[in-house]
Amino acid sequence: MNFKKKSYREITGAIHLHTTYSDGGITIKELINAAKTVGLNFIIVTDHMTLRGLDEGYEGLTDNLCVLVGYEHHDPHKKNHYLALGVDQVFNPSLKPQSYINEIKKAGGIGFLAHPAEKRNYFGSLPPYPWTDWEVDGFDGIEIWNQMSDWVENLKSWMSFVKLFYPRRFLGAPPAELLTKWDTLNKTRFISAIGGVDAHSRRLGIGYCCFRVFPIKVELKGIRTHLYIDQKNNFSNFAATKKAILNGLQNGHGFISNFRRGDAMGSCFFLQHKNGHISLPGVQKSYSLPARLMVEIPEKGRIILIANGKAINHTDGKTAAFEIEKEGIYRIEVYKKSKAWIYSNPFPIGCYPF
Ligand SMILES: [Zn+2]
Ligand SMILES: [Zn+2]
Repeated sequence: MNFKKKSYREITGAIHLHTTYSDGGITIKELINAAKTVGLNFIIVTDHMTLRGLDEGYEGLTDNLCVLVGYEHHDPHKKNHYLALGVDQVFNPSLKPQSYINEIKKAGGIGFLAHPAEKRNYFGSLPPYPWTDWEVDGFDGIEIWNQMSDWVENLKSWMSFVKLFYPRRFLGAPPAELLTKWDTLNKTRFISAIGGVDAHSRRLGIGYCCFRVFPIKVELKGIRTHLYIDQKNNFSNFAATKKAILNGLQNGHGFISNFRRGDAMGSCFFLQHKNGHISLPGVQKSYSLPARLMVEIPEKGRIILIANGKAINHTDGKTAAFEIEKEGIYRIEVYKKSKAWIYSNPFPIGCYPF
């Protein structure tokens, strides 16, 4: 399977990063320097209610790293966090969720519900910030896997010391109820998924010592979002690269991985049609059935086919080819040694009118 060699180039990025412009513990310069050393192609900075990183000129291409700056919008009660990307202004903090979703879209931006199923019950002083207003519409996607929420949710007192020193070891999986919600929403229109780091790199003092929980280089080796972009894009033009990344995120042309379980770079997920045509995850504008959902991953894993929210088939190994005979919403999950590793965006086949 060499579909990437034909038309697409795979890039990998870390999305949802905080800096000292809001409540992060490191400067944007420190973040960019760290990102250059851990094999990322792009990062997206999203400080709370500020675009200072953009205003101060940090967007751009530097040493083959594409730096984008969006921001994290919240409602007047600091709830319903929304990652606003591709905008050049921060919208009014008094707006209700449907209004900021609309305003961001009207301004040409895209948006993702951030940590929508966050729970956090361990830290009394740090309440959870789940998405609560599910009546809204018009958002582009959902952050199905938030590294910081995952880490905090599974935190129990007996293991807190271990988790502080080995922060990625206990990363679990996207919340099951959120995956169900995502699958259900996808039945009516395409909802893309991203993975978010929610990096804060804050210092924590214990007794006389003070250290960073999740040093940034460790944080950037966790949840990643991979995209397939045009093979001809060689990161020489910033505007074209920014457009390609935002377009890929909005249209779900990729997958999410946990780097801690293995570098998923090189993975392929595509639909092969009878006429030889292949298509990426995302809305399938034309299709013919039966088709074949092809998977290739760089290391062995359990490759599971999910159809309309239910696991219906699986293969163990590095490749899989699933026959698709009926219309529906199909996606792939990959587990490595029974731990969650990769989540593809869906292939909705014959589901929506055009
Ligand atoms: Zn948030
Ligand atoms: Zn955040």
